[in-house]
Amino acid sequence: MQNITHNIVIIGGGPAGLAAAVSARQNGENDILILERAAELGGILNQCIHNGFGLHTFKEELTGPEYATRYIDMVVQQNISYKLNSMVIDISKVRDTSDKLVTYINKEDGLQQIVTKTVILAMGCRERARGSLNIPGYRPAGIFSAGTAQRLINIEGECVGREVVILGSGDIGLIMARRMTLEGAKVKVVAELMPYSGGLKRNIVQCLDDYDIPLKLSHTVVNIEGKERVTGVTLAQVGTDRKPIAGSEKYYSCDTLLLSVGLIPENELTQNAGISLNSITNGPNVNDHLETNLPGVFACGNVLHVHDLVDFVSEEASLAGKSAAKFVSKQKILEGLKSYTATSTQNNPIQVLPKDGVRYTVPQTIDFDGMEDTLIVRFRVADVYKNRFISVYYDDKRVQHKKKKVLAPGEMEQVVLLKSTFEGNAPKNITICTETE
Ligand SMILES: Cc1cc2nc3c(=O)[nH]c(=O)nc-3n(C[C@H](O)[C@H](O)[C@H](O)COP(=O)(O)OP(=O)(O)OC[C@H]3O[C@@H](n4cnc5c(N)ncnc54)[C@H](O)[C@@H]3O)c2cc1C
Repeated sequence: MQNITHNIVIIGGGPAGLAAAVSARQNGENDILILERAAELGGILNQCIHNGFGLHTFKEELTGPEYATRYIDMVVQQNISYKLNSMVIDISKVRDTSDKLVTYINKEDGLQQIVTKTVILAMGCRERARGSLNIPGYRPAGIFSAGTAQRLINIEGECVGREVVILGSGDIGLIMARRMTLEGAKVKVVAELMPYSGGLKRNIVQCLDDYDIPLKLSHTVVNIEGKERVTGVTLAQVGTDRKPIAGSEKYYSCDTLLLSVGLIPENELTQNAGISLNSITNGPNVNDHLETNLPGVFACGNVLHVHDLVDFVSEEASLAGKSAAKFVSKQKILEGLKSYTATSTQNNPIQVLPKDGVRYTVPQTIDFDGMEDTLIVRFRVADVYKNRFISVYYDDKRVQHKKKKVLAPGEMEQVVLLKSTFEGNAPKNITICTETE
């Protein structure tokens, strides 16, 4: 097997991979390859035929495929190479250099290895399936994850059912409630285990309220009936311990159960490469360049943390592309000096700490010396909070304090940090928290 070489290999040709490629190119890097396991570029957007994409990036309301096409066109115009039907199966380090070895497989090339200076992880996420939920009952036909149902309807043209119950009120569940209704199905109820919806407010209004679809918070499926095909499900209310309350059961006849019960970032490759993962996001820990603990490996999009808005994915991925391009040019200078040490940007990092109602932050560390003038830190809160403040502390000094009417886990939040506000002194820790006053 003959090794080929590239400066940047991007794994995944969804919105994150595409935006990272375009940005790396705009930042001066020509030698980029995108590897995509599917038959097309565009990722999950290809099946999201509803509108609502692109309001931030293009100041227009686009469908998912339209949004993806904008980036695919940029990739093509900028002559960025990509390979479809190409599945990456391994990332490892090349001994005695800072290079990485990416192994992929496809029909034309067979098993192929690429030596690359940098890797951008943009593999997205997959849906949590029924097997990971403890729902008793048979396993009849008619149980789909919401994303699979979306693909079957929007791409394969197969309507998956006529009478539907949906478990999970994240954005995909909400969008599928509307989509099934528009296809002529009757969506009887959307049940949600938590006392709040995991979806965007606008999706609750536009996908449920507008179609009179009831949302039952603090409810779950306790039984599935039917042998060949689903004939009904039983819902029960849950207590604060999220366990079903005896006597609250209610039966719904239906032929289809859609599960929208969470997304799992696809990080098997990441983990096998020895990259450290964050136990809350299930994505890699990164610094403000979106670089993981393996120097030269960057991450963006849903593989880093689950996003609800693709516009933020593109923005984040642009930073990953820019950081990878900068890493390559720095590496070339070092190679010219015959110094082959990996240049980690994580020396003496500032720790970004989530606290009091903030579940996680991305990035988790900041490289003060290499920090850009403006840095966006994204995070999610742990519960629904009303009239709380989002505060930022540099060590013990509060530097930001902003009131928010409502904070909800379904809506990603952000704070903007300006390097000038450090006044030349790097704090040891930056804490992001919620406060009641
Ligand atoms: C069902 C659904 C509905 C949504 N609705 C909206 C909406 O209305 N508005 C909005 O703004 N956002 C929406 N989003 C969010 C937004 O679309 C996603 O956050 C965004 O698509 C994530 O982009 P990504 O590139 O990280 O992941 P993806 O789009 O999932 O792309 C990842 C790509 O990586 C490829 N890949 C994975 N592993 C490998 C491998 N080993 N080798 C090669 N290729 C690999 C996959 O095939 C895929 O193409 C929705 C998301 C979903 C799932």
